[in-house]
Amino acid sequence: MQIRLDGKRALVTGGNSGIGAAIVRELAAAGARVAINYVVHPELANALVAELQAANAGAASAVAVGVQADVSDATQVEAMYAELDRQWGGIDILVNNAGIDGAPAPTWEADPANFERVLRVNLQGSFLCARSALKRMTAQRSGVVLNMSSVHERIAWSGFGAYTASKAGLAMLTQTMAQEAAPFGVRVLALAPGAIRTPINQNVWSNPDSLRDLLTKIPLGRMGEPAEIAQVATFLVSGAASYMSGNTVFVDGAMTDYPEFAHGG
Ligand code: NAD
Repeated sequence: MQIRLDGKRALVTGGNSGIGAAIVRELAAAGARVAINYVVHPELANALVAELQAANAGAASAVAVGVQADVSDATQVEAMYAELDRQWGGIDILVNNAGIDGAPAPTWEADPANFERVLRVNLQGSFLCARSALKRMTAQRSGVVLNMSSVHERIAWSGFGAYTASKAGLAMLTQTMAQEAAPFGVRVLALAPGAIRTPINQNVWSNPDSLRDLLTKIPLGRMGEPAEIAQVATFLVSGAASYMSGNTVFVDGAMTDYPEFAHGG
């Protein structure tokens, strides 16, 4: 089976780093035009745009564009979609990937402002971007929204209550939006990565002791790579997954279903 997304217009939030950048590359390789949303580090988004343009030098129109917006800001999200309407006349695929984990602290010591910020980016931001996408997708009666959840929609994570709550909330938002959008032929899914080697968790994988501890919790015995998430994401937003909607797909080296697992322990 070969997955093709020719002619599809995709937006990836937080597409200039980690898992988002890998998804941008994979969608473009399948033939989609990709808008790379970013809030900081425009140079990373610009480099990715240049890389994809060079790989598609013969294309009649731009295969990649960078669009700046803080996904937690409704006005900036509206402006981002207005820009996509202007450039591409709409959207077929949204990957709600932007996310933060926030400063760690047990709940009784947590800063309420930190809690609110994590919820605003991970949950409210996904809602705002999905809201604008679904308006367009339901009207055209086609499209896919893919929300980047986490194994922590199901596994507790001490010190990160805002993160776990945001991802659990995103899972139920996914189910509700999928139910609402289904009559219009629009699919909504969530993808839950396990431990993937990106900047968000560099403090864990760059420290030998914390990496060793992490690996005891992963039956496959290693962290995942961003490309391994991007391949599944590309399948989920493609016609090959046309009968899938509403659920969360776990891509986690089996860590979620084996909480008692410990390599060598
Ligand atoms: P990352 O830090 O490399 O990427 C996160 C991206 O989101 C960055 O581009 C960042 O600038 C962007 N972002 C943050 N706040 C934003 C905002 N307000 N508006 C727009 N963009 C914003 O980390 P990553 O690991 O690639 O994370 C991507 C997604 O995957 C996140 O939702 C994260 O929760 C999820 N995830 C990651 C892992 C993992 O192990 N890396 C595991 C499970 C889930």
